[in-house]
Amino acid sequence: MLIDSHCHLPHERYDISVDDILAEAKDFGVEKFINIGTSVEENIKSIETANKYPQVFCSIGIYPHENRTSPIPELMDSLEGNLNMSKKIVAVGECGIDISNIDDSRPLEEQFILFGKQIEFAKKNNLPLIVHNRNGDEHLLKILKEHLNSNLIGVVHCFDSDWDFAKKVLDIGFYISFTNMITYPNKENLLDVVKKVPEDRFLVETDAPWLPPQSLRGKINYPKYVKIVAEKVAQVKQKTFEEVSERSYANTCSLFKL
Ligand SMILES: [Zn+2]
Repeated sequence: MLIDSHCHLPHERYDISVDDILAEAKDFGVEKFINIGTSVEENIKSIETANKYPQVFCSIGIYPHENRTSPIPELMDSLEGNLNMSKKIVAVGECGIDISNIDDSRPLEEQFILFGKQIEFAKKNNLPLIVHNRNGDEHLLKILKEHLNSNLIGVVHCFDSDWDFAKKVLDIGFYISFTNMITYPNKENLLDVVKKVPEDRFLVETDAPWLPPQSLRGKINYPKYVKIVAEKVAQVKQKTFEEVSERSYANTCSLFKL
């Protein structure tokens, strides 16, 4: 049994319904899903999806570049207001640091503030954190360490750094989550992390509709393909597929208290 620990279910990129996405995933052995919020608007959709489907849980958060023109206190109020809309909110995120050359990006100093506020929000509500990181390794660790206490746990999702950074993430008690990026060419550093990460500290996810497996590059990704992530982890770690499925399932349930 598999769980997709990070997907975006209601999304305009899909050409089939959420019902069909979940049914297809079930045929691949994917039984549970964590649907991720990224903005004020997406958080509502994420909650509604979790409330509709028993097998779907959800998170709420503000992605580094979303709702860029809204004042941060307003965004935090919105997250606060989301909390009583569902008992299936299991995490805060995705939130974090994103350093990329996109138009309409949130300035870095503002990203730091927004990330810090969401970390405090997670701590206050005893929820784990789902961290997004693009080119922000050092900033990310610094901010996480500033806010660290025994109440702060989480996962660095869509992990794409080397073992040196992975070790630092593990040292502060966080989990690491792998996507189908581990099937892409020239990812030796990442495969080294897959190999070395302790059995009880990794998750698998799709980040669908983004990041399809190598064999489907350029196409839409679906939660069913979390099976391919688990297969690749098994191959790299020289474990059976069943062992990796069970492990990642148990780790996800433990982190998100499912
Ligand atoms: Zn995502």
